[in-house]
Amino acid sequence: MTPRPEIPTPGDPPVGGDWAVGFAWGGRRVVVDTTGDEIRATGEDGEDLAADLPGLVGVTRGLVLDGEVVALDGQGRPAPDGTDTLTVADLLHADGEDLCDRPFDERRARLEALDCGPGTLVPPVFTDVAPAEVLAVARRHGLPGIVAVRRTALYRPGRRSPDRVCATVPGRLGTYASMRDFTVTPEPTGGAPEPGEPIFVVQRHRARRLHYDVRLEVDGALASWAVPRGPTLDPAARHLAVRTEDHPMDYAFFEGVIPAGQYGGGDVIVWDRGTWRPARTEDPAAALAAGELHADLVGEKLAGRFVFVRRADDGGRKEQWVLVHKRDDDAVDGWDPEAHPRSVLSGRTNDEVAAAPAAMWQSGAPAATAEVPLAGPTRPPRPRRPRTSSPPSTPWGPPARGPSAAGTWP
Ligand code: MN
Repeated sequence: MTPRPEIPTPGDPPVGGDWAVGFAWGGRRVVVDTTGDEIRATGEDGEDLAADLPGLVGVTRGLVLDGEVVALDGQGRPAPDGTDTLTVADLLHADGEDLCDRPFDERRARLEALDCGPGTLVPPVFTDVAPAEVLAVARRHGLPGIVAVRRTALYRPGRRSPDRVCATVPGRLGTYASMRDFTVTPEPTGGAPEPGEPIFVVQRHRARRLHYDVRLEVDGALASWAVPRGPTLDPAARHLAVRTEDHPMDYAFFEGVIPAGQYGGGDVIVWDRGTWRPARTEDPAAALAAGELHADLVGEKLAGRFVFVRRADDGGRKEQWVLVHKRDDDAVDGWDPEAHPRSVLSGRTNDEVAAAPAAMWQSGAPAATAEVPLAGPTRPPRPRRPRTSSPPSTPWGPPARGPSAAGTWP
């Protein structure tokens, strides 16, 4: 007999413990059984859905799968006119063997080794990303929420399980409002913004070259600089800051991967965030235009007064600025940003995000839709380009560029 789906327990994103977290896709929850002559599909109330879901005909035989049927577009995003797809989250039976009394991790490992057939996807689950972070990604994309499963949990067909927690996105705030909701990320430690205070963010971005993107909210956009050596509290440092184009607010708290070959291809973490206030001026846009901006930052790593000063025009296409920290109460001699490598959103390093990103940024897409939560088929981590200053050996690779070259640091 086809098992009924295990029922999730609504709740907040779990904290601590060993959870595997995936997106809820807003589709029709179903257990699909292809072990018999006919494909069976059973909903959460035990209803027979097979007749409603003709797209299941391609599912590999001999399996019992737990998932959702949802219409997805070509990029794996839910879309009303998309293709009906079974997003598979769990494996209950395979090779003639009932797996319900096996721990989730084992079921997942077997699932990920399978080909479930055309019309199916196995979206990733995240075991080293905080559930609240996955929920934040869901929220930014209009997905209804997340499902977290305890990695040691057995499957309880038809029963409500405390080991399967669904957390839903509360309401549909605009992108901007949701980015400002710091409560959905764990342990905000300072820099909690007052409503209306402009934000700043620093992303550590490993593209062709490592750099830190320092971004200040000015008039609804993110004034941006690429700082190869990073911002520092060290008042003796004078770090080059290459002015880059303003970025949309949608990008502020992006953390994930930008596909290789796209503008800025590489991995990105939110290295610091907080709020800032202009000093010595009421009009930061005018100060930027004049080439000198004093900014008081209140972040989780950075604090105190930073000064951005534009260098004399050297004829290059991108403006070169210098970033310094004033010798104030927040200054720390010898402070090294590379000694503080973790994301303030997820606690992860660039390496860890690159290995298991929760989201991807499509550089060519409009900002509002450029970030996509990763659906299946899971993209393997891209091979990392060796760190070298010599030109690439292939003719289609990018030319080697110095730090001052235009377009090097998006
Ligand atoms: Mn960048």
